[in-house]
Amino acid sequence: GGDEVLAELREKLSPRGDLVSPRGRELTQAVFGKPLTPVEVVETICRDVLSEGTPALLRYTKALDGAELTAPSLRVPAADLAAAHAAADPEFLESIRRIRDNIVQFQTAIRHSDVTIQPRPGVRLTQRYVPLRRIGICVPGGAAAYPSTVLMTAVPAQVAGVGEIAVVAPPTPFGAYNNDMLATCHELGLTEVYRCGGAQAVAAMAYGCDALPAVDKIVGPGNLFVALAKKHVFGTVDIDSFAGPSEVIVLADETASAAFVAADLLAQAEHSPGSAILITWHPDLIEQVQIELSSQLAELQRSDLVRDALADFGALILVRDADQACALTDSFAPEHLHIQTAHPSVLIEKIRNSGAAFLGHHTPVALGDYAAGPSHVLPTGGTCKWAEGLSVNSFLRSGSVTSFATEATRAIAPDVIRLAEKEGLTAHANSVSIRSQAE
Ligand code: NAD
Repeated sequence: GGDEVLAELREKLSPRGDLVSPRGRELTQAVFGKPLTPVEVVETICRDVLSEGTPALLRYTKALDGAELTAPSLRVPAADLAAAHAAADPEFLESIRRIRDNIVQFQTAIRHSDVTIQPRPGVRLTQRYVPLRRIGICVPGGAAAYPSTVLMTAVPAQVAGVGEIAVVAPPTPFGAYNNDMLATCHELGLTEVYRCGGAQAVAAMAYGCDALPAVDKIVGPGNLFVALAKKHVFGTVDIDSFAGPSEVIVLADETASAAFVAADLLAQAEHSPGSAILITWHPDLIEQVQIELSSQLAELQRSDLVRDALADFGALILVRDADQACALTDSFAPEHLHIQTAHPSVLIEKIRNSGAAFLGHHTPVALGDYAAGPSHVLPTGGTCKWAEGLSVNSFLRSGSVTSFATEATRAIAPDVIRLAEKEGLTAHANSVSIRSQAE
């Protein structure tokens, strides 16, 4: 019944209203005076920010985050960024610099570069890549601080050559008032940081207002309101992906350590909500992992949250063999896939769908979350069947450049004219024949 278990989990993980806490529902009632669904909340906020601009952004920042700001105080002053950096733990900053170097190295290596071919004499065809002019990054700040998200979004954009980067974070101690987050921005040379979050920040970045000029693309993770707002503004701007609750599938055989597997499942559940799934064909492992989960849970700082996430979104699934495990994994299409078997590089070849894969007993997903080099902003909810994680290439736009010399145009003219006439577009045909006939 592994496929039924996974289908049920997929359904539970889909972004719906009941992922909003009772406190969230109370807030909606208090701000809007009626029980709106999250989609209705987001549509209302986006409409107001589009029509009113800065006043609506400030009004929702006060109503939803309790911060009374003005247009100038919405932006973090340069002096505050510098002060946060000066006050930061020097070892933390050294880690940030080392991680930035790892990200730069990987993202530089995978950056698309222009391709030109000359298929026939006189014909030159180019695919060129240009960086986006201005992008916006959402850094969450509701439940925890995420300097790692600043690294994993801004550094790929910088490698792409994006000219302007705006960062938004809710005006909370975990967001725009978080010293480590601000110090990371300063370390990376990010000077445009705004104290706003949620749907109102996404709408402001998409539509632009006096206090926050519009961007061309919005990236970065967030809660349900951020995700729904990004979906709402897509088309006015580009977005990275529709990121929901985080997920991992661990594939493990008899060579896996139950202690390692349990630690990885707990790390994923710590995202709360985060879905942690073990699939194995080794029956003893399920029992051993259960024992490890109980003992390791007791030691965790957020053990209650993690226990609840495991109960709601966790699964330990026993399958017949490795092939069945790969087929199940492929149909679930997890954000993270961690293969802890004797020959992980053989199994990865049998799995098409995963946002990011981690191979071997000593490659925990946390390496990718924090430091390895690929971005940790990844498609969730099965969307990696068609979407991909954030990278340097997410910040490049490609366009073609075509150039034909006179003789080459004459040579291709009959085909163009024939098709244009078939479509009844004689002006198109004429624009080619006029050149073929010219001396
Ligand atoms: P957040 O910072 O994304 O959003 C907080 C904002 O939501 C607030 O500023 C407020 O404006 C808005 N909001 C809250 N309740 C609301 C309501 N009832 N009505 C309207 N607006 C409301 O929030 P967060 O809690 O920090 O969540 C961040 C999420 O991002 C977590 O689920 C975390 O796991 C995830 N995350 C994912 C990654 C990744 O790369 N996949 C990285 C970091 C964080």
